Amino acid sequence: MSITRSAIVIGGGIAGPVAALALGQAGIEATVYEAYDTTADGVGGTLSIAPNGLDALAAVGLAGVVEELGSPITSMVMRNGKGRRLATLGSPAGLPAQRLLWRPDLYRALRDATASRGVRVEYGRRLTAVDQDADGVTAVFADGTTARADVLLGAVRLRSPGRCKLDPAAPAPPPPPPPPPARGGGDGIRSRVRSLLDPAAPAPRYVGLLGFGARLGPGPVDASRIGTTGSEMHFVFGRRAFFGYVLDEDGSGGWFANLPRAASTTAAETRATDPAGWLKLLRETFAGDGLRMDDLIARTDPADLISVGGMEDLPTVPVWHRGRAVLIGDAAHATSPSSGQGASLALESAVELARCLRDLPHQEAFAGYESLRRARVEKIIKMGERTNSDKAAGPVARVLRDLMMPVAMRLMNPESFSWPMRHHIDWDAPVAGAAVSVQAPARAG
Ligand SMILES: Cc1cc2nc3c(=O)[nH]c(=O)nc-3n(C[C@H](O)[C@H](O)[C@H](O)COP(=O)(O)OP(=O)(O)OC[C@H]3O[C@@H](n4cnc5c(N)ncnc54)[C@H](O)[C@@H]3O)c2cc1C
Repeated sequence: MSITRSAIVIGGGIAGPVAALALGQAGIEATVYEAYDTTADGVGGTLSIAPNGLDALAAVGLAGVVEELGSPITSMVMRNGKGRRLATLGSPAGLPAQRLLWRPDLYRALRDATASRGVRVEYGRRLTAVDQDADGVTAVFADGTTARADVLLGAVRLRSPGRCKLDPAAPAPPPPPPPPPARGGGDGIRSRVRSLLDPAAPAPRYVGLLGFGARLGPGPVDASRIGTTGSEMHFVFGRRAFFGYVLDEDGSGGWFANLPRAASTTAAETRATDPAGWLKLLRETFAGDGLRMDDLIARTDPADLISVGGMEDLPTVPVWHRGRAVLIGDAAHATSPSSGQGASLALESAVELARCLRDLPHQEAFAGYESLRRARVEKIIKMGERTNSDKAAGPVARVLRDLMMPVAMRLMNPESFSWPMRHHIDWDAPVAGAAVSVQAPARAG
C-alpha cells in the first residue's frame, strides 16, 4: 500500500488531468495547478489517440471519454504530390482504430471528467519554484502562493528556467523572468519542472519543419482535384512540403502542413505574422503538386489558421525525477508530431506513474516508472525523427523515397509499425519493486 497520500500536479493540459484522475483511482489525492488563468478552450489542432492511448484511458475508466470525439481512422494512406499511392497502413489486427480528434475537444472532455470525479483544478497558478524536504514538497507559484503535498508531478512545457531548492542547503538562483505572453502547444516545450530538476537538461530540438493546420466546415468537394477520405487519413509527400488531411462527403474535415524551414520560429512568432500571408505561402508551396492540397488551404479563413511554430522533440531527458518531484508527458518525453504518439505516450505515462505510486514508496515508484517507460518512449521518439527526414527530403531523396517506399512497405514486417500501439497497461497488476525493470506486457494481437 502506498505511503503517498497527496500529489501536486503541475500542468492542466492532457497528461496532468489524466495523472490526477489515475492518482485518485490509486487512493492518492491530487490537485492540478495550471499556469493560465483561463481554460484552453478552442486552442489547438488535431491529435491522434492511438490504440495504446485508448488503452491507457481505459485503465482509469476514461475509455468513453474519446468514444464520442473525433473520427476513427482505419488506415493511413501515403501518397506523393502527384497523388500516387505509395503505401497504405491499415489498423493493426486485433486493436481498435486510432481516433483523430481535436485537441480542444479532448481537453474539454478531460476537464469534465476531473470535475465529475471531484478532482480540483486551480487556474492562474504558474509554478516558479519547488522546495522539498524530508516530509514533503512545496510548489511556489508566481502569485506568491504555495501548495504542499507528498509528491509533485511536472506535466508542463515552458521556456524559462527557475529556482529549485531540491537540496535545502543549496543556494537559490535568482527568480525567473516573466512568463511568455501567449498560450499554445508550440509556445514553449521547455518544462519548468524539468529545468528545476536538472538545470543542465537539454533544450528541445527543432526538427526542421514549421507546423500549420486548420479545421474545415462543410464545403465543395471536387474529386478530380482532391477527393474525400472516408475513414482513412491521407498523408502527402508534396514536392516542397508535407500535407495531411481528412475530408468528409460534405467537405468538412481538416488539414495540416509541415513546411521545411532552416530556422525555427515559435508559435507566438508565427501567430504574430499575418495568417493570410502564411496561407498564401502555403497555397504557393503546394500549387505545383498534382493533388490539389491548395484547394483545402484556399478554403481556410485566416482567422482559423492554427500556427504551431517550429516542430520540436526531445530525444532524451537524462533526469526524470529527483527527490519528491517527477516528470510526465511532454516534460519527460516530447516526440515530434510526426510520430502520432505524443498524446498517447503522455496518457500512458500518467497512468503508469500513478500505478507505481499506488504500490511503492515514492523513490522506488519513480525509479520503477522510469524503467517501465524510458526505453519505450525514446524508441518511439526516434521513429518520429525518421519520418521527419522523409518529410523534408530534397529532390534526389524524394525520387528515391517514392521508388523505395512501396517496396519497403510490401517487405515490411507489420509488427515494426504496430508495436507502439500494442502496449497494454494492466492497472490491477501489482507493481513490485523487482518487477519494474520489466516492460509492461504486450497486448495479444
Ligand atoms: C494549448 C495547447 C494546444 C496544443 N495543441 C496541440 C495540437 O494541436 N496538436 C498536437 O499534436 N499537440 C498539441 N499540443 C500539445 C499536446 O497537448 C501534447 O503534446 C501532449 O498531449 C502531451 O500533453 P502534456 O500534458 O504533456 O503537455 P501539454 O498539453 O502541452 O500541457 C502542459 C500544460 O502545462 C501548463 N503549464 C506550463 N507551464 C506551467 C507552469 N509553470 N505552471 C503551471 N502550469 C504550466 C500549460 O499551460 C499546459 O496547459 C497542445 C498543447 C497546448 C498546451
